[in-house]
Parts: sequence; C-alpha cells; structure tokens
Amino acid sequence: MTQPTRHPSRGVSLLVIAFLAGGVWIDTAALHLVERGTVTFALPFLVAVVAFAVTEGVVMHVELGKNAHSVSLAEVTLTVSLFFVPTGQLPISRVLGGGIVLLLVRKQRPLKLAFNLALWFLDVAVASLVFQALRGALDAGIERMVVPAVAAALAAALVDSLAVNAVIAATSFELDLTRALRFVETCMLGALGCATAGLVCVGAMAHSPWLLIPMVLMLALYLFGFHHFAALRAQHSNVKVMYEFAAELSRTPHSDQVVGLVLRRVAELLRAERAVLYLHDHETGQLARTIRSEDGVNHTTEVALRDLPPALQQAMEGDQALVLRAGSQDTACIELLDALTAKDAVLAPLSGEQGLRGVLVLTDRTGEVTTFAKDDGLLLQALTSHAVTALANARLVERLDHESMHDSLTGLANRARFQERLTRALRRTGDGVAVLLMDLDRFKEVNDTLGHHHGDLLLQEIGVRLSRQMRQGDLLARLGGDEFAVLMTGVDQEAAVAIAERLSRALNEPMHLHGVEMEVGASIGVVHVPAGRPGNDHEATLLLQRADVAMYAAKQHYTGVHLYLDELDGYSPRRLALASGLRGAIEQGHLSLRYQPQARVGDRAVVGVEALVRWEHPVYGTVPPDDFISIAEQTGQIRELTRFVLNAALADRARWAAAGAPLSVSVNLSVRNLMEPDLVAVVRELLSKHAVPAGQLTLEITESHLMSDPARTAEVLRGLSALGARLSIDDFGTGYSSLSYLKQLPVSEVKVDKSFVRDVAEDAEDAAIVEAILGLAHTLHLQVVAEGVEDERSEERLRELGCDLMQGYHLARPMRGEELLGWLAAAKLPRVRSLPTPRERFASA
Ligand code: C2E
Ligand code: MG
Ligand code: MG
Repeated sequence: MTQPTRHPSRGVSLLVIAFLAGGVWIDTAALHLVERGTVTFALPFLVAVVAFAVTEGVVMHVELGKNAHSVSLAEVTLTVSLFFVPTGQLPISRVLGGGIVLLLVRKQRPLKLAFNLALWFLDVAVASLVFQALRGALDAGIERMVVPAVAAALAAALVDSLAVNAVIAATSFELDLTRALRFVETCMLGALGCATAGLVCVGAMAHSPWLLIPMVLMLALYLFGFHHFAALRAQHSNVKVMYEFAAELSRTPHSDQVVGLVLRRVAELLRAERAVLYLHDHETGQLARTIRSEDGVNHTTEVALRDLPPALQQAMEGDQALVLRAGSQDTACIELLDALTAKDAVLAPLSGEQGLRGVLVLTDRTGEVTTFAKDDGLLLQALTSHAVTALANARLVERLDHESMHDSLTGLANRARFQERLTRALRRTGDGVAVLLMDLDRFKEVNDTLGHHHGDLLLQEIGVRLSRQMRQGDLLARLGGDEFAVLMTGVDQEAAVAIAERLSRALNEPMHLHGVEMEVGASIGVVHVPAGRPGNDHEATLLLQRADVAMYAAKQHYTGVHLYLDELDGYSPRRLALASGLRGAIEQGHLSLRYQPQARVGDRAVVGVEALVRWEHPVYGTVPPDDFISIAEQTGQIRELTRFVLNAALADRARWAAAGAPLSVSVNLSVRNLMEPDLVAVVRELLSKHAVPAGQLTLEITESHLMSDPARTAEVLRGLSALGARLSIDDFGTGYSSLSYLKQLPVSEVKVDKSFVRDVAEDAEDAAIVEAILGLAHTLHLQVVAEGVEDERSEERLRELGCDLMQGYHLARPMRGEELLGWLAAAKLPRVRSLPTPRERFASA
C-alpha cells in the first residue's frame, strides 16, 4: 500500500481562502446591521491601524508543552476599536496594522503571513458582527455595551483558536484533543482579560480622553508584572527540569545512551528542532558528531576538527554558552548560523576536569514566534554540565569494565572474558562450540635471549597475526603468558581443526621484530562440543582443561594441532577433582609436611631437613606435590600454599630446637612466589613469629624457573638474602643457567639434580658432570648437595668427588615431623649445630 502524499501547504492555502471568503461575507453581514453612510477612511481608522501595529508588537508568551502560544495586546485595541472604528473598516485596520509587524518585524514567510492576515480578517469580522448584533438588540449606552464587547472578543478568540487548531491538524495530520481544548481555553481567557482592559479604556475615554494616560500606564505595569511572573515560573520549572534531567542521567549507565538521552531531552526542553553533539576523544584524537534527527534516531559519524567552521571550534574552546538569535545583525553570528544552516541556535561547550571536550549545538527553535534567548543559553550550559559529569562517569565505568575484561598488552579479551563468553556459548546448545588453546613453542627462549621488550613485541605481533585469521564473531583471547585461546560457535569438528591448522601455519611463518628474525611456532589443542549436546557436563572449565590436554599432546608429539579425544585424558577426572578441591584442602588443613634429612657426605652428620608438602585426600589418599603444585600455580593458590608450608615448617623447626635438635630447614618456593610483592615481609614475619634465626631457613628455587624472569627474581632473592635466609638452587643441571650467572645472585647452595646422582657410581659421564659442578661451585664458595642418593655406592663416589651434603632414600625417606626426633635418635648419627657457611668451610679446609 502506498502512503498518500501529504501536502500541508495545500491545506493551509485552502484555509486562507476559506477564512478570507468567510471574513468578507461576515463583514458584509455586519455592515447590514448598521446604517450605511459614505465609506471614508477617516482618523479613527488610521489611529486603529497604528494602535493595532503597536499593540501587536507587545506579546505575552504562554508556553504549553512543546508549543508556545502568544496573546497579543492587539485584542485590547480590538475591543476599543469596536466603539470608534466604522464597521466594515475594522477588519482592514486589523490586517493593515498587524500585517506591518508580521512582515517587517517578524519577517514571516508568505504562506504563514497570508494565513495570519486572513485569520485576523475573519476574527475581526466575527467580532464586528457579534458586537453589532447584540448592540442593536440592547440599545446604546456605554454600560450596556459590556456584554456585546465581551461577547465579540470571546467570539473572535474562539474562531481564532479553532482555526489555529485546524491548521495544526492540517500540517501535522493529527489532532491532540486535550491540547486543542487547552489552547482554546487559554485564548478565551486571554481575550476575556483584553476585553476587560479595553472596556475600562473605553469607559475612561468617555469620561475624559486624558484618563487614557493612567490607563496605558496601568496596562504597562500589568505587563511588567506578567513578565516578571513568567520569568519566575520559568526559573522554577528550570530547577525542576534540571533535577529530573540529572536523575534521568544517573539512571543511564552507557555513554551512548547518555548521549542519546542528552540530545533528546535537551532538544525537548529548549524546544529545538535539531540537536547535535560534537565530542572529542582525547585518546584517539578523533571527533565524533552525533545528530539527533527528527525521527528521533541518533547518527554518529567521525569528523575532522579542521572541517568544522572556525566559529564552532572557538565555541568548543570557550567556557560559556553562545546564543545566536534569529534576525541578529552580527556578522560572526550570521556566518555561524549559515554554517549550521539554521535560523537560530544555542551552543554550549563541554568541558570539565574529566578531560572531556566538545560542544552541544541546538538549532531552530520550534514555532515561529520566539528565538533563543540568554536564559536558554544559561539553561543549556547548566544541562550540559550535568551531561558532562554523566558522560565522564559512564566512560570511566566502561573503561574499567573493558580493562577488567581485556589484556592490556595485546588488547585482546582476557581469561575472565573468555570464560564468560564460553559459558554463555555452552548454554546455547543449538550451536556447535569449539575451543582452540595454543601455547607458543619457543617464547621462553625469545624472552630469555632477547629480553622482555622483544617478548612483549612478539606477543603483540602474535595477537595481530591471529586476529587476521579470525572469522567474524569468533573470540580471540590471551589467557596469560604465551597462552592464547579462540572460541568459535556454529562450527563442526572438521572446520574447527581446519581453522586450527590455518592458525598454526600463520604462527609458523617467521616473525621480524626490530630486525631480528625468529620462528616461534605453536602447539594448538582443539576441543569440540557438537550442536545440541546439553551444556551441563561441558562447563567452561572442563572444556578448557580438555583443550589443555589436547595442547600438551600436540606439544609432545610435535604435531602442531591435536584434537581432544577421551582416551588422551585418562588422568583428567582426577586432575579436575584435584583442581576443584585444592582451595578447600588448603583452608581445611588437609595439607601436611614430610621432612627428608640432609647429611654430610662422609660422616653422615645430619645438618638439616627439606620440607616436602603432601595432600591427604579423602578419595585419592596421599597426593604427591607434582600432582597439585602446578594446579596451585595456575589457579593463584600457590601463595596460600607456600604460606602454609613456611609456617608449618618453621613451627616444627622451633619444636625440634626446643627438644635439643636445632636443625636447618629447607622450604621450596615456586617462581610465582617470587612475583609476590610481600614475600620478603611474610618470611620476616614468620621467622620472628617462631623465633627461628634466619640463617636456619633455606629457600629452594628450581633452576629452570629461576631463569624465566631473571631480572625480577634477582631483586626478590636479594631481599630474602638481606633477611639472612639462605638460598639454594634446586634441580641444578636441568636449566640453562651458567654457574657464572649464579655468581651475581646471593646464593649459598646448589642441589645437583637426582638424574645426575642416581647413576653417578656407574656412569662416567654423570660423574664428570657432577665433578664439573662441584669444581665450579666450590670456586664460587657454594655448598653442593646431591639429591636422590639411593645407595651406598653412590654415596661413596660422591665422597670421592668431594660433595658436601647428600639427601636421598639411602639416608632416609621423607618422614612426618613427629617421627624425625625418633629417627635421629635411632640412627645415632652425629649432628652439627649449624650449617657451615661457605667461608667457614673454606677457612677450615
Ligand atoms: P625437590 O625439591 O627436588 O624434592 C626432592 C624430591 O625428590 C622429593 O619428591 C623427594 O621425595 C624425592 N626424593 C628424595 N630422595 C629421593 C631418592 O633417593 N630417589 C628419588 N627418586 N627421589 C627422591 P617429592 O616430595 O615428590 O617432591 C617433588 C617436588 O615437588 C619437589 O622436588 C619440589 O620441587 C616440589 N615441592 C615439594 N614440596 C613443595 C612445596 O612445599 N612447595 C613447592 N613450591 N614445591 C614443592
Ligand atoms: Mg627442593
Ligand atoms: Mg630437587
């Protein structure tokens, strides 16, 4: 169905013709009621023309919602003229006097001008007819003229208001009945007031024309009072408006919603046809222009600052609202209005400590009668300042939201966001879901050899490369370190694997970073949930665990990409149970310690013990640390775990010392612990809590871990050493560190990894490695512990090589704290009071 074409101007033209015809007809009818003399346009006619022109200029504005109505004092003139101007000439004097004002002062457009003039003609003709008809019936005498005059004025107002309603309906094609009736009521009330004032003037003039002077004065005072009252009312309603605006803003959380609300409300409140907001983004340096169009939709586009009219740029820099009135003669004002293609405008700059910059522009006051005034500028400025605060708050919240969900280095989604989106995707069982988990193969080498800066650049480059391969709607995230993940929905298994292979190829391409070429490569684990499977047993965590299993399989088999299959994952139910139960275990004290003695090679004098953690699990029994330390590290629980171990080990050591066995105690630290800012403080606090001398505590750090972030770990190690604690490098020989690097660290001890110790008696190569470690360590004044000494022959060989201490099943298996004193007594081994520092050892040698 096609919409009928609407031609509002055609309707108005028809009304104009009808008014004129009606006016002429009614005027003629009125003429018939009076005695007809010769038609001369004498003095009263000319006075009436002037009086209509003057009083037409004095308008009282009554604002009703979006529409402003005006009551002009010309209606006073009409009442007075009914008495003095010959019938028949009255409508002409009204049209002439009022027309001058509309044409020269208000510069109305032709159609509107024609409408108003025709309507006046009709109004006044009706007034004349009513007046003459009633006056004839009532006979002359000023007192008897009150009713005809009032009736005439009311009749004219009724016709006027009905006609205006008709034209509003004709142009907008709709009729709001309540508003129309309210308008009629206002007009009638205005007419009643004007008629009364007119009658008083006529009465006074009948007495003496001089009385007209105090009458006019009184009218002026009355007008002044009215304006004052109107201003107060406007102020009062502004306060209300401001309060409501602020309240509405505070309920609007998103910045684009804030912009929409501001444009809508401000345009409504200031009765502007158009509202535009220019907002400068100081981060991107771009300027966004949001326009609220007549259909209420907002359109945002980027614009260049230099493309804005200079006057608009200036307005943005200013700190006050700018009011550009219709008909202004100021050239700058005219220029800016031209640039804005507007008849009038009001602009308020956006500024604030919050770093926002921009300008809010309202153009084209609705209705023809008024233009923007100074008060509108003040109101807009005040509304804008509320808008600025709301906008700054909304942006801050959005930024924090973004930061909490994104990785700051690559700008990709972070683990939290990935998990959230995955959970949501799994709820929609209609889609097939795939998770790709990837770990870079040689990232650590890049980081270690070229430093962190290159490491960061590499991660960023990887982010860009992967993003390029992404399909629309898939989510790429950096989960941490060199681990990236992709979430895909609406894919089948083959497609998921194909995409993983494409990503793998992209990552295998050499990278060029600041002139350095490198090949990193990645291992990608793929897990797929077919469409329509209920999501419950495919929770996000489980899916990620499976992707992890597949990724390790890809790493082990050097396949690049590996799809998760159930048989890969024999241990995963246990691992999952451990992962979910660890927090409770730490809190409920299900962790316990075992201690393994360390003794001097040769005389087997016991010098200390190493604390090794165990988990007494209700289902899996005693769980070894290798099964849960990595979980604790990944889930951030290593902090609590290490605190538990340190506290328990120092408490036990204090008990042994009190029982006469002041052994040294070693505790293992994870490299993650070295990243905790308060680690040194915690160690200090626990030492003093249990009154253990710092020198009796040794902290072990695994060599390969130590090298993952040498600069950072070195600083923490120095802090720990400054406390007086001893530092030991665990599993020595498995990492890449050189002994000369260790020279720079405040280390007292190295523990040769058990893989070299086990066969030291038989394997000449292992023996050579141990010998080399011993030689270098001793030159650096480091004490050497051999771990994993399982038999007599190994101990004997270590003695020949000159090893200092040993630890292993041959001496003792790890035992509970309460067993230790009994073991010491039973073994009847010599004891030394404290561990020799390297210097003491060399001094005695
Ligand atoms: P580690 O620090 O190198 O500890 C020595 C490991 O070798 C212990 O295993 C110990 O039971 C085992 N061991 C001792 N003597 C022999 C032997 O003669 N032959 C063989 N084959 N093994 C021997 P455990 O207790 O399972 O601990 C494994 C690893 O878990 C530890 O290696 C350490 O890296 C880590 N770990 C243990 N407790 C903690 C802890 O409280 N915190 C942290 N971060 N890691 C811990
Ligand atoms: Mg250890
Ligand atoms: Mg070890």
